[in-house]
Amino acid sequence: MHVAVVGAGVIGLTCAVRLAEAGHRVVVTAAAPPAGTTSAVAAALWYPYRAWPVEAVTRWASRSRLVFAELARDGDTGVLLRAGRELLRSPAPDPWWAAAVPELRRLTPDQLPAGFVDGFGFTAAVIDMSRYLEWLLSRAKALGVSVVVQRLSTVDDAVGDAVVNCTGLGARELAGDASMVPVRGQVVRLANPGLIEWLLDEEDPAGMTYVVPRHDDVVCGGTADEGADSGEPDPTVEAAILSRARALVPALLGAAVLSRGIGSRPTRPTVRVQREDTAGRPVVHCYGHGGAGVTLSYGCAEDVVEQVGRLG
Ligand SMILES: Cc1cc2nc3c(=O)[nH]c(=O)nc-3n(C[C@H](O)[C@H](O)[C@H](O)COP(=O)(O)OP(=O)(O)OC[C@H]3O[C@@H](n4cnc5c(N)ncnc54)[C@H](O)[C@@H]3O)c2cc1C
Repeated sequence: MHVAVVGAGVIGLTCAVRLAEAGHRVVVTAAAPPAGTTSAVAAALWYPYRAWPVEAVTRWASRSRLVFAELARDGDTGVLLRAGRELLRSPAPDPWWAAAVPELRRLTPDQLPAGFVDGFGFTAAVIDMSRYLEWLLSRAKALGVSVVVQRLSTVDDAVGDAVVNCTGLGARELAGDASMVPVRGQVVRLANPGLIEWLLDEEDPAGMTYVVPRHDDVVCGGTADEGADSGEPDPTVEAAILSRARALVPALLGAAVLSRGIGSRPTRPTVRVQREDTAGRPVVHCYGHGGAGVTLSYGCAEDVVEQVGRLG
């Protein structure tokens, strides 16, 4: 089939690659190229965050986890596997997505910094999005996918036998979806002083804190402002993020700021992977991945391929 994918973030590109691998002829049309998307801002740690429903998200995350483990073998992808710890300030049951991480272990008291009483440890993919989106794009092009930079005002403008709508927050207009909620997040990237372990403290009363070391830099975050579209990074917010990250990881105290980013997570009550016919043509929606678009990308893309396959 000739499939029009709309959107060139991590979801659109992953769908394009998987569709092309399945033998479809794919054209990607996107208002912003990969480097200008929300996906380019992501931390990006494999971690199911602000995405629902629980069962499907756990399945998509589990599948993507396996694929990222494979991709980490190839140094060109920008995917790394890193051990890390989620730190908790009060005792908690296993996370709802625990089935996706069979080797998840509860931290012992000697593995908890002062102020924390519980936590989990596991190895997760850490994805350097600037490298990874480039790699995904070249993989798509090598499979014959072409990419056109153009904003569509309606899905009817996409040319193909079927349309796959991967427009993230753009689905508010393109799919008329009023249930989408932007959740703004800000990050600051520091020179990596040699860190290899990621750390997550979602319960800091001053704000969620994460430290995600990639190859050359460390992504520090974060924020989650519900209802806020992204603008410019706020220096006051950045100072607060740095203060929390440096308190958690003192090795970051002398690390230089390399860059900063801000974006809004495309959040929805449930991730939408669903076929709908528009003007007599099948449209497969794939958007609303919240704070976990990278984490869910392969699982969702493979469901999209299955839905498109049923059309043929
Ligand atoms: C600060 C921050 C940290 C994050 N950290 C993580 C993390 O650690 N792990 C994780 O898994 N996720 C993380 N996320 C979430 C992740 O970034 C998103 O879930 C993901 O980027 C969504 O991808 P997407 O492809 O659906 O949307 P996007 O990346 O927004 O791409 C949408 C695409 O659609 C195009 N488009 C929109 N409207 C139209 C239109 N009308 N016509 C044509 N094209 C259109 C856009 O131009 C763009 O190309 C984070 C997000 C933020 C903001």
